[in-house]
Amino acid sequence: MAVLVYAESWSGSFKKATFEAVSYAAQLADKIGTEVIALTIANNNNSTQLGKYGVSKVFTIANDSLTTFNNQAYANAIIAAAESTGADTIVISNTNNGKAVAPIIAAKRGAALITNVLDLPSSHSPFTVKRKTFSSKAFAQYSTEATQKVISITPNAIGAIETNKSAATESFDYTATESDNRLSSVSVDKAKGKITLTEAEIVVSGGRGLKGAENWNMIEELAELLGAATACSKPVADIGWRPHGEHVGQTGIAINPELYIAIGISGAIQHLAGVNASKNIVVINTDAEAPFFKAADYGIIGDAFEVVPKLIEALKTYKMNN
Ligand SMILES: Cc1cc2nc3c(=O)[nH]c(=O)nc-3n(C[C@H](O)[C@H](O)[C@H](O)COP(=O)(O)OP(=O)(O)OC[C@H]3O[C@@H](n4cnc5c(N)ncnc54)[C@H](O)[C@@H]3O)c2cc1C
Repeated sequence: MAVLVYAESWSGSFKKATFEAVSYAAQLADKIGTEVIALTIANNNNSTQLGKYGVSKVFTIANDSLTTFNNQAYANAIIAAAESTGADTIVISNTNNGKAVAPIIAAKRGAALITNVLDLPSSHSPFTVKRKTFSSKAFAQYSTEATQKVISITPNAIGAIETNKSAATESFDYTATESDNRLSSVSVDKAKGKITLTEAEIVVSGGRGLKGAENWNMIEELAELLGAATACSKPVADIGWRPHGEHVGQTGIAINPELYIAIGISGAIQHLAGVNASKNIVVINTDAEAPFFKAADYGIIGDAFEVVPKLIEALKTYKMNN
Protein backbone atom coordinates (compact mmCIF):
# COMPACT_ATOMS: atom_id res chain seq x y z
CA MET A 1 0.00 0.00 0.00
CA ALA A 2 2.90 2.40 0.74
CA VAL A 3 4.52 4.63 -1.88
CA LEU A 4 8.24 4.13 -2.46
CA VAL A 5 10.24 6.90 -4.11
CA TYR A 6 13.68 6.24 -5.51
CA ALA A 7 15.67 9.36 -4.51
CA GLU A 8 18.40 9.44 -7.11
CA SER A 9 21.88 10.73 -6.23
CA TRP A 10 24.56 12.14 -8.51
CA SER A 11 28.07 11.54 -7.11
CA GLY A 12 26.46 11.10 -3.71
CA SER A 13 24.33 14.26 -3.79
CA PHE A 14 20.73 15.04 -4.67
CA LYS A 15 19.55 17.41 -7.36
CA LYS A 16 16.31 19.29 -7.89
CA ALA A 17 14.78 16.41 -9.89
CA THR A 18 15.12 14.17 -6.80
CA PHE A 19 13.34 16.66 -4.56
CA GLU A 20 10.57 16.99 -7.12
CA ALA A 21 10.05 13.21 -7.26
CA VAL A 22 10.09 13.02 -3.44
CA SER A 23 7.57 15.89 -3.17
CA TYR A 24 5.36 14.18 -5.73
CA ALA A 25 5.49 10.85 -3.88
CA ALA A 26 4.76 12.54 -0.54
CA GLN A 27 1.72 14.36 -1.95
CA LEU A 28 0.51 11.17 -3.65
CA ALA A 29 0.83 9.18 -0.42
CA ASP A 30 -0.93 11.93 1.48
CA LYS A 31 -3.87 11.89 -0.95
CA ILE A 32 -4.33 8.13 -0.66
CA GLY A 33 -3.69 8.10 3.08
CA THR A 34 -0.58 5.97 3.10
CA GLU A 35 3.07 6.14 4.06
CA VAL A 36 5.84 7.36 1.76
CA ILE A 37 9.30 5.86 2.02
CA ALA A 38 12.35 7.10 0.13
CA LEU A 39 15.20 4.90 -1.00
CA THR A 40 18.70 6.23 -1.64
CA ILE A 41 21.56 4.29 -3.15
CA ALA A 42 25.20 5.39 -2.77
CA ASN A 43 24.21 8.70 -1.19
CA ASN A 44 26.78 10.65 0.84
CA ASN A 45 24.90 10.83 4.11
CA ASN A 46 22.63 13.72 3.16
CA SER A 47 19.50 11.57 3.10
CA THR A 48 17.91 13.53 5.95
CA GLN A 49 17.46 16.43 3.47
CA LEU A 50 14.60 14.42 1.99
CA GLY A 51 12.50 15.03 5.11
CA LYS A 52 12.11 18.64 3.99
CA TYR A 53 10.23 17.35 0.95
CA GLY A 54 7.71 15.31 2.91
CA VAL A 55 9.13 11.84 3.65
CA SER A 56 9.49 10.63 7.19
CA LYS A 57 11.51 7.51 6.51
CA VAL A 58 14.52 7.04 4.24
CA PHE A 59 16.11 3.69 3.49
CA THR A 60 19.73 3.97 2.47
CA ILE A 61 21.73 1.36 0.61
CA ALA A 62 25.48 1.72 0.93
CA ASN A 63 26.64 -1.35 -0.88
CA ASP A 64 30.09 -1.27 -2.54
CA SER A 65 28.76 -3.03 -5.62
CA LEU A 66 26.22 -0.20 -6.13
CA THR A 67 28.55 2.79 -5.96
CA THR A 68 28.30 3.29 -9.72
CA PHE A 69 24.93 3.27 -11.48
CA ASN A 70 24.03 -0.08 -13.02
CA ASN A 71 20.48 -0.29 -14.37
CA GLN A 72 19.91 -3.97 -13.60
CA ALA A 73 21.37 -3.83 -10.10
CA TYR A 74 19.64 -0.56 -9.17
CA ALA A 75 16.31 -1.88 -10.47
CA ASN A 76 16.74 -5.03 -8.38
CA ALA A 77 17.61 -2.98 -5.29
CA ILE A 78 14.53 -0.77 -5.76
CA ILE A 79 12.35 -3.87 -6.21
CA ALA A 80 13.81 -5.39 -3.03
CA ALA A 81 12.97 -2.20 -1.10
CA ALA A 82 9.43 -2.14 -2.54
CA GLU A 83 8.90 -5.77 -1.54
CA SER A 84 10.23 -5.22 1.94
CA THR A 85 8.06 -2.13 2.56
CA GLY A 86 4.97 -3.50 0.84
CA ALA A 87 4.97 -0.54 -1.56
CA ASP A 88 2.78 -0.99 -4.60
CA THR A 89 3.49 2.40 -6.17
CA ILE A 90 7.07 3.31 -7.07
CA VAL A 91 7.91 6.90 -8.03
CA ILE A 92 11.05 7.64 -10.01
CA SER A 93 12.38 10.77 -11.67
CA ASN A 94 12.34 10.60 -15.48
CA THR A 95 16.08 11.27 -15.68
CA ASN A 96 18.42 9.18 -17.84
CA ASN A 97 18.93 6.74 -14.98
CA GLY A 98 15.24 6.80 -14.10
CA LYS A 99 14.38 5.97 -17.72
CA ALA A 100 16.76 3.02 -17.53
CA VAL A 101 15.40 1.47 -14.33
CA ALA A 102 11.66 2.21 -14.54
CA PRO A 103 10.82 -0.25 -17.36
CA ILE A 104 12.91 -3.02 -15.76
CA ILE A 105 11.10 -2.58 -12.46
CA ALA A 106 7.69 -2.47 -14.16
CA ALA A 107 8.43 -5.59 -16.22
CA LYS A 108 9.74 -7.56 -13.24
CA ARG A 109 6.82 -6.58 -11.00
CA GLY A 110 4.17 -6.87 -13.71
CA ALA A 111 3.32 -3.25 -12.93
CA ALA A 112 1.67 -0.52 -15.01
CA LEU A 113 4.35 1.94 -16.15
CA ILE A 114 3.42 5.58 -16.72
CA THR A 115 6.37 7.73 -17.77
CA ASN A 116 6.85 11.48 -18.20
CA VAL A 117 4.11 12.30 -15.70
CA LEU A 118 3.36 16.02 -15.32
CA ASP A 119 0.84 16.22 -12.52
CA LEU A 120 -0.72 14.54 -9.51
CA PRO A 121 -3.48 12.10 -10.48
CA SER A 122 -6.86 13.62 -11.34
CA SER A 123 -8.42 10.39 -10.08
CA HIS A 124 -7.18 7.52 -7.90
CA SER A 125 -9.74 4.98 -9.04
CA PRO A 126 -8.88 4.38 -11.77
CA PHE A 127 -5.48 6.02 -11.28
CA THR A 128 -5.44 8.75 -13.96
CA VAL A 129 -2.55 11.12 -14.66
CA LYS A 130 -1.45 13.63 -17.25
CA ARG A 131 1.73 12.90 -19.16
CA LYS A 132 3.72 14.29 -22.06
CA THR A 133 3.38 12.45 -25.33
CA PHE A 134 4.40 12.67 -29.01
CA SER A 135 7.82 14.20 -28.18
CA SER A 136 6.16 16.77 -25.88
CA LYS A 137 3.86 18.03 -28.63
CA ALA A 138 0.76 16.82 -26.81
CA PHE A 139 -0.56 15.84 -23.41
CA ALA A 140 -2.38 12.60 -22.68
CA GLN A 141 -4.38 11.33 -19.74
CA TYR A 142 -3.26 7.81 -18.84
CA SER A 143 -5.40 5.60 -16.71
CA THR A 144 -4.76 2.26 -15.01
CA GLU A 145 -6.63 -0.08 -12.69
CA ALA A 146 -3.39 -1.90 -11.78
CA THR A 147 -2.42 -2.01 -8.12
CA GLN A 148 1.28 -2.20 -8.93
CA LYS A 149 2.43 1.01 -10.57
CA VAL A 150 5.71 2.63 -11.61
CA ILE A 151 5.39 6.38 -12.19
CA SER A 152 8.21 8.47 -13.61
CA ILE A 153 8.06 12.23 -13.12
CA THR A 154 9.18 14.78 -15.72
CA PRO A 155 11.93 16.92 -14.17
CA ASN A 156 11.17 20.66 -13.91
CA ALA A 157 7.44 20.11 -14.40
CA ILE A 158 6.06 19.80 -10.90
CA GLY A 159 8.40 21.64 -8.57
CA ALA A 160 9.65 20.64 -5.15
CA ILE A 161 7.44 21.56 -2.20
CA GLU A 162 9.13 22.07 1.15
CA THR A 163 7.42 20.89 4.32
CA ASN A 164 8.38 21.10 7.98
CA LYS A 165 8.84 17.33 8.28
CA SER A 166 12.07 15.59 9.13
CA ALA A 167 13.21 12.17 8.06
CA ALA A 168 14.71 9.28 9.97
CA THR A 169 17.18 7.19 8.03
CA GLU A 170 17.59 3.46 8.25
CA SER A 171 20.09 1.36 6.38
CA PHE A 172 18.57 -1.17 4.02
CA ASP A 173 20.43 -4.40 3.72
CA TYR A 174 20.49 -5.26 0.06
CA THR A 175 22.10 -8.50 -1.08
CA ALA A 176 23.23 -8.40 -4.68
CA THR A 177 21.64 -10.94 -7.01
CA GLU A 178 23.36 -12.85 -9.77
CA SER A 179 21.82 -10.64 -12.45
CA ASP A 180 23.31 -7.51 -10.82
CA ASN A 181 26.73 -8.44 -12.08
CA ARG A 182 25.90 -9.04 -15.72
CA LEU A 183 26.89 -5.45 -16.43
CA SER A 184 29.60 -3.35 -14.82
CA SER A 185 30.77 0.18 -15.37
CA VAL A 186 34.43 0.23 -16.43
CA SER A 187 35.03 3.99 -16.32
CA VAL A 188 33.07 7.22 -16.05
CA ASP A 189 34.24 10.36 -17.83
CA LYS A 190 32.25 13.34 -16.59
CA ALA A 191 32.02 16.88 -17.99
CA LYS A 192 33.47 19.16 -15.30
CA GLY A 193 32.21 22.50 -14.02
CA LYS A 194 29.21 22.61 -16.36
CA ILE A 195 25.53 22.81 -15.62
CA THR A 196 23.88 19.59 -16.74
CA LEU A 197 21.60 20.22 -19.68
CA THR A 198 18.72 18.12 -18.42
CA GLU A 199 18.84 19.80 -15.00
CA ALA A 200 19.30 23.38 -16.16
CA GLU A 201 16.64 25.99 -15.41
CA ILE A 202 17.94 28.14 -18.27
CA VAL A 203 19.40 26.88 -21.56
CA VAL A 204 21.12 29.02 -24.20
CA SER A 205 21.16 27.18 -27.50
CA GLY A 206 22.80 27.92 -30.84
CA GLY A 207 22.13 26.77 -34.39
CA ARG A 208 23.67 26.93 -37.82
CA GLY A 209 22.91 30.66 -37.94
CA LEU A 210 25.99 31.15 -35.75
CA LYS A 211 28.18 30.28 -38.76
CA GLY A 212 31.01 28.50 -36.94
CA ALA A 213 32.43 27.01 -33.74
CA GLU A 214 34.55 30.12 -33.19
CA ASN A 215 31.37 32.15 -32.55
CA TRP A 216 30.29 30.12 -29.51
CA ASN A 217 32.25 32.39 -27.13
CA MET A 218 29.29 34.75 -26.97
CA ILE A 219 26.87 31.84 -26.38
CA GLU A 220 29.03 30.59 -23.52
CA GLU A 221 29.41 34.08 -22.08
CA LEU A 222 25.65 34.64 -22.18
CA ALA A 223 25.07 31.22 -20.61
CA GLU A 224 27.56 31.92 -17.84
CA LEU A 225 25.95 35.26 -17.02
CA LEU A 226 22.55 33.59 -16.80
CA GLY A 227 23.78 30.50 -14.94
CA ALA A 228 22.58 28.50 -17.93
CA ALA A 229 23.58 25.33 -19.73
CA THR A 230 24.48 25.45 -23.43
CA ALA A 231 22.77 23.40 -26.14
CA CYS A 232 22.72 23.26 -29.93
CA SER A 233 20.80 22.02 -32.94
CA LYS A 234 21.62 18.68 -34.54
CA PRO A 235 23.56 19.97 -37.57
CA VAL A 236 25.78 22.00 -35.24
CA ALA A 237 26.77 18.82 -33.38
CA ASP A 238 27.01 16.84 -36.64
CA ILE A 239 29.44 19.39 -38.14
CA GLY A 240 31.46 19.21 -34.92
CA TRP A 241 31.03 22.83 -33.79
CA ARG A 242 29.67 21.55 -30.48
CA PRO A 243 29.79 18.19 -28.65
CA HIS A 244 26.98 15.70 -29.36
CA GLY A 245 25.99 15.85 -25.69
CA GLU A 246 24.56 19.34 -26.37
CA HIS A 247 22.31 18.31 -29.25
CA VAL A 248 18.66 18.76 -28.31
CA GLY A 249 15.63 17.57 -30.21
CA GLN A 250 13.87 14.46 -31.38
CA THR A 251 17.13 12.56 -31.86
CA GLY A 252 18.97 14.42 -29.11
CA ILE A 253 18.21 15.29 -25.52
CA ALA A 254 14.68 16.38 -24.59
CA ILE A 255 14.65 19.27 -22.13
CA ASN A 256 12.05 21.42 -20.38
CA PRO A 257 13.81 24.32 -18.68
CA GLU A 258 12.14 27.45 -17.34
CA LEU A 259 13.76 29.43 -20.14
CA TYR A 260 15.09 28.27 -23.52
CA ILE A 261 16.90 30.87 -25.63
CA ALA A 262 17.26 29.72 -29.26
CA ILE A 263 19.79 31.69 -31.26
CA GLY A 264 20.15 31.19 -35.03
CA ILE A 265 17.98 28.08 -34.98
CA SER A 266 15.21 27.75 -37.57
CA GLY A 267 12.83 25.73 -35.36
CA ALA A 268 12.45 22.58 -37.44
CA ILE A 269 9.86 20.18 -36.06
CA GLN A 270 12.59 17.72 -35.02
CA HIS A 271 14.31 20.43 -32.97
CA LEU A 272 11.05 21.60 -31.40
CA ALA A 273 10.26 18.03 -30.36
CA GLY A 274 13.01 18.24 -27.74
CA VAL A 275 12.48 21.79 -26.48
CA ASN A 276 8.85 22.82 -26.86
CA ALA A 277 8.01 21.74 -23.30
CA SER A 278 10.20 24.63 -22.08
CA LYS A 279 8.21 27.05 -19.93
CA ASN A 280 9.39 30.17 -21.84
CA ILE A 281 10.99 30.24 -25.26
CA VAL A 282 12.95 33.22 -26.61
CA VAL A 283 13.97 33.14 -30.26
CA ILE A 284 16.61 35.31 -31.90
CA ASN A 285 16.62 34.95 -35.68
CA THR A 286 17.21 37.21 -38.70
CA ASP A 287 14.33 35.61 -40.60
CA ALA A 288 10.92 36.83 -39.46
CA GLU A 289 9.40 33.78 -41.17
CA ALA A 290 11.53 31.26 -39.21
CA PRO A 291 9.12 28.59 -37.88
CA PHE A 292 10.58 28.92 -34.37
CA PHE A 293 8.76 32.24 -33.91
CA LYS A 294 5.44 30.34 -33.89
CA ALA A 295 6.57 28.42 -30.79
CA ALA A 296 8.19 31.45 -29.13
CA ASP A 297 6.92 33.39 -26.13
CA TYR A 298 9.27 36.24 -27.03
CA GLY A 299 10.99 36.82 -30.35
CA ILE A 300 13.75 39.12 -31.52
CA ILE A 301 14.04 39.49 -35.30
CA GLY A 302 17.67 40.42 -35.58
CA ASP A 303 21.24 39.39 -36.22
CA ALA A 304 22.64 37.23 -33.40
CA PHE A 305 25.99 38.96 -33.79
CA GLU A 306 24.36 42.27 -32.87
CA VAL A 307 21.66 41.10 -30.43
CA VAL A 308 23.70 38.70 -28.26
CA PRO A 309 26.56 41.16 -27.46
CA LYS A 310 23.90 43.74 -26.52
CA LEU A 311 22.19 41.21 -24.25
CA ILE A 312 25.54 40.38 -22.63
CA GLU A 313 26.27 44.07 -22.02
CA ALA A 314 22.78 44.64 -20.59
CA LEU A 315 23.13 41.66 -18.26
CA LYS A 316 26.56 42.80 -17.06
CA THR A 317 25.17 46.25 -16.31
CA TYR A 318 22.19 44.74 -14.51
CA LYS A 319 24.46 42.50 -12.44
CA MET A 320 26.72 45.41 -11.53
CA ASN A 321 23.77 47.47 -10.29
CA ASN A 322 21.92 44.70 -8.45
C1 LIG B 1 15.00 12.22 -38.65
C2 LIG B 1 15.52 13.56 -38.31
C3 LIG B 1 15.81 13.84 -36.99
C4 LIG B 1 16.29 15.11 -36.64
N1 LIG B 1 16.56 15.36 -35.33
C5 LIG B 1 16.94 16.63 -34.97
C6 LIG B 1 17.16 16.96 -33.62
O1 LIG B 1 17.02 16.14 -32.71
N2 LIG B 1 17.52 18.24 -33.33
C7 LIG B 1 17.69 19.20 -34.29
O2 LIG B 1 18.04 20.34 -33.95
N3 LIG B 1 17.50 18.89 -35.58
C8 LIG B 1 17.14 17.64 -35.95
N4 LIG B 1 16.97 17.34 -37.27
C9 LIG B 1 17.34 18.36 -38.25
C10 LIG B 1 16.25 19.41 -38.45
O3 LIG B 1 15.33 18.94 -39.43
C11 LIG B 1 16.86 20.73 -38.96
O4 LIG B 1 17.58 20.48 -40.16
C12 LIG B 1 17.81 21.36 -37.96
O5 LIG B 1 17.17 21.49 -36.70
C13 LIG B 1 18.22 22.74 -38.45
O6 LIG B 1 19.21 23.24 -37.62
P1 LIG B 1 19.42 24.82 -37.49
O7 LIG B 1 18.13 25.45 -37.15
O8 LIG B 1 20.58 25.04 -36.61
O9 LIG B 1 19.90 25.22 -38.96
P2 LIG B 1 19.14 25.94 -40.15
O10 LIG B 1 17.90 25.25 -40.52
O11 LIG B 1 20.17 26.13 -41.20
O12 LIG B 1 18.68 27.34 -39.54
C14 LIG B 1 19.55 28.37 -39.20
C15 LIG B 1 18.70 29.55 -38.75
O13 LIG B 1 19.56 30.58 -38.37
C16 LIG B 1 19.02 31.81 -38.83
N5 LIG B 1 20.14 32.75 -38.95
C17 LIG B 1 21.09 32.82 -39.92
N6 LIG B 1 21.97 33.79 -39.65
C18 LIG B 1 21.57 34.33 -38.48
C19 LIG B 1 22.10 35.38 -37.68
N7 LIG B 1 23.23 36.03 -38.02
N8 LIG B 1 21.44 35.70 -36.54
C20 LIG B 1 20.30 35.05 -36.16
N9 LIG B 1 19.78 34.06 -36.90
C21 LIG B 1 20.41 33.70 -38.04
C22 LIG B 1 18.35 31.47 -40.14
O14 LIG B 1 17.35 32.42 -40.45
C23 LIG B 1 17.79 30.10 -39.84
O15 LIG B 1 16.47 30.18 -39.35
C24 LIG B 1 16.49 16.09 -37.64
C25 LIG B 1 16.17 15.79 -38.96
C26 LIG B 1 15.70 14.56 -39.30
C27 LIG B 1 15.36 14.26 -40.74
